[in-house]
Amino acid sequence: MRIFFDVDYTILGADYSLRPGTRETFARLVDDGHEIHVWSGEGLRHAVLKNHELAHFVTGVYEKPIRDYVARLDVLGVDVIPDFVIDDYSEIVTIFGGYYVTEYYRHRDDDTEMHAIYECISEWVASGASSHRRWRPRHEDFDAMLGKSAD
Ligand SMILES: [Mg+2]
Repeated sequence: MRIFFDVDYTILGADYSLRPGTRETFARLVDDGHEIHVWSGEGLRHAVLKNHELAHFVTGVYEKPIRDYVARLDVLGVDVIPDFVIDDYSEIVTIFGGYYVTEYYRHRDDDTEMHAIYECISEWVASGASSHRRWRPRHEDFDAMLGKSAD
């Protein structure tokens, strides 16, 4: 599956710390055969991936649409369709489907969201859904949005 991670407050704090468990979760997801993609409303975040030693796990890096999410994939050069997104902004998660993560502002040792994300993805891959309260299914009109963006 193509798993898309947001950057700010999802994997990166305002203090530039990496969310606990991010590197391990990326490694496990890649091991499981998934592709990791990283996007951000702030543009291409290669520096973050390099500085936190994540770049080798990542297949694609993009600017993230912050409105008209599906229609603007093309415009922003996102040449694949996200299967599952992880973001601290709920609206984009309710469109593509994925995990609406709690905001990560600064380093804290007790943050377990990355573990929950891995469990949620594993459950969703196995059954097509997840019991996690922060999982969101893909929008029911997603295919129509996709069709429209192709026009
Ligand atoms: Mg964010």
